[in-house]
Amino acid sequence: MIELRNISKTYHIGPYKVQAVRDVSLTINTGEFVAIMGSSGSGKSTLMHMLGLLDRPDTGNYKLAGYDVTKLTDEQMAIVRNRLIGFVFQQFHLLPRMTALENAGLPLVYASVHNLDKSKEKLVAVGLQDRIAHKPNELSGGQQQRVAIARALVNEPVLLMADEPTGNLDSKSKEEIMTILKSLNDQGKTVVMVTHEKDMAVYAKRVIQMKDGQIISDEIQQPQTTGSLSHMPTTDWNFIDKTVSSFYDVGKWLDSLKQAVYAMFSHKLRSLLSILGILIGVAAVIAMLALGQGAQESIQRQLAFLGSNLLMVRPGSFTPGPVAVQAGSVTRLNFGDVAAIRQMSDQVKRVSGTVEGRVQVVAGSKNWNTEVDGVDVDYAPMRAYVPQMGRFFTKEEVTSRAKVAVLGTTVVQQLFGDKDPMGEEIRINSVNFKVIGILPSKGASTFRDQDDVVMVPITTAMYRVLGKQYIDSVYVEGTSADVLDDMQGEITRLLVKRHRINGKEQDNAFQVRNMADIKATLEATTKTMSMLLGSIAAISLLVGGIGIMNIMLVSVTERTREIGLRKAIGANREDIMIQFLIEAVMLSLIGGFAGVAFGAGVSLLLTFFAGWAVKISLFSIVLATVFSLVVGLVFGLWPAYQASLLDPIEALRYE
Ligand code: ADP
Ligand code: MG
Repeated sequence: MIELRNISKTYHIGPYKVQAVRDVSLTINTGEFVAIMGSSGSGKSTLMHMLGLLDRPDTGNYKLAGYDVTKLTDEQMAIVRNRLIGFVFQQFHLLPRMTALENAGLPLVYASVHNLDKSKEKLVAVGLQDRIAHKPNELSGGQQQRVAIARALVNEPVLLMADEPTGNLDSKSKEEIMTILKSLNDQGKTVVMVTHEKDMAVYAKRVIQMKDGQIISDEIQQPQTTGSLSHMPTTDWNFIDKTVSSFYDVGKWLDSLKQAVYAMFSHKLRSLLSILGILIGVAAVIAMLALGQGAQESIQRQLAFLGSNLLMVRPGSFTPGPVAVQAGSVTRLNFGDVAAIRQMSDQVKRVSGTVEGRVQVVAGSKNWNTEVDGVDVDYAPMRAYVPQMGRFFTKEEVTSRAKVAVLGTTVVQQLFGDKDPMGEEIRINSVNFKVIGILPSKGASTFRDQDDVVMVPITTAMYRVLGKQYIDSVYVEGTSADVLDDMQGEITRLLVKRHRINGKEQDNAFQVRNMADIKATLEATTKTMSMLLGSIAAISLLVGGIGIMNIMLVSVTERTREIGLRKAIGANREDIMIQFLIEAVMLSLIGGFAGVAFGAGVSLLLTFFAGWAVKISLFSIVLATVFSLVVGLVFGLWPAYQASLLDPIEALRYE
């Protein structure tokens, strides 16, 4: 069964060398029950770890069941530990959150067997049929060690190794355990046991004494009955090359998920705090996208009504100081200016002067305070105000200062309710007007209700309603967007010349604004807002990720012994890595989903209380979920990798 040739193992601690095992050669046959004895520090455990493929010798040769195992890779060693060797440790090493059944069944997971029948069978065999659903803290020491023995047997190993199995037990339990080991040997199992207690060694058929890393005596206490009971695959070692990557093993994933859930629930507050960062980050992503998209749509709607290729001309700001006082007042626009701009060049398509003011409008018994806009005929097509019902006023009506009005939908609603206003009389500041049309509804802009307006001919507004002698602003439409920049300069020069303005005031006398600039400003504002939220999201996700990483590192450290145990019973690097990655991803996904809910809630509150346009899309939810998944993966990777690198022996010894 076991053939050791000149095995040595030296530990280096700083400048010191400890030769734990020196040049040991040893043969153990199938069916033997060997006790390795010796004082503490004599190298028993070190030898045992090499026998159990938990550690590699520095030099020498080891044949297990006829196969040279010194050349095996780490992964293959894990498989051999899982299939051929069962370990029993002094400290039991049961996982506290799992039942006896789950603990004993743990090696099955790594053998890709996903039912616990075997585990139950072995627990019955060690006499624990009534304790199957108990957790380790509900079991006595002897019972815990019996669970550990059941675990060692669950994959039907050919070799059972026990390192001081009775070291932590009272004398009655010691006897129980030794009786079990003895009967297992009687059934043909090869048993190698380390002990320093003489009373325990008497159960063994052969006793090997060690001192300072060397075998000093080797005697048979009871003659070997038979070696023929062996059922070991002495020749068939194909299984070590035939394993499937655990990546494709759904059962292992489920087991890892179960472990992750256990781990999360055993540290509820800690888990909650660690997902908070992800939660806030994802909520910010959701709110950002909702706000961005909503704003985009509302701007788009407003822009559609703004008109394109438009310039707006207004008198410049009042210039304070002696020069302005001399000039008398701010420069005012007049009809001459409008006509001059219209004639200025071929690039001018349409022009309309406008005046505006607040007025009181009366219809029958209804009274409404609203804005009156005095405009020219071209204003309607320029700014997309062509009436949805009735008509706009004509050139003649403008010239003759006709008392006709086109109403915005809000005004119609206020004055007429559901009645048809067409042809009705209204009074604007006590002047009678006839309603000839209804404007298209434009909805609310950021600052005001764009449908709360009455439009009348500009001349009527100036001379009959508002008593103004000048024009407030002039809208100019160019033939295309490209000509607007040139036109801006031309209009300024024209007006400066017409109004004989000279010197420094030329620059400020008139404002000519491009509506595209307003568009751009609106868009830039939304973008800034989105970017702000975006950076909050990015920072939170980063912080959240670091939080996850931190908690995972803590989790790995806390569970170092568990990792060692899992490796000892056959988990390979990939298995450990997947287990911790799943835990990290699960945490961040939970944070992600909570964040989606929270973000959606915040978005809805924004709409409800601040009146902001928000829109939650499926895309943003998918994006946020993917984000949290990626954060979990990225930040879980390092801790999981650290865990996978742990050496089983050192991990088991970790305090
Ligand atoms: P035993 O099990 O017989 O008490 P061990 O095999 O555990 O003895 O240890 C043998 C010697 O090797 C001891 O002197 C111990 O200090 C040393 N040793 C064991 N493991 C390590 C290690 N990981 N690093 C350094 N020295 C070690
Ligand atoms: Mg020891």
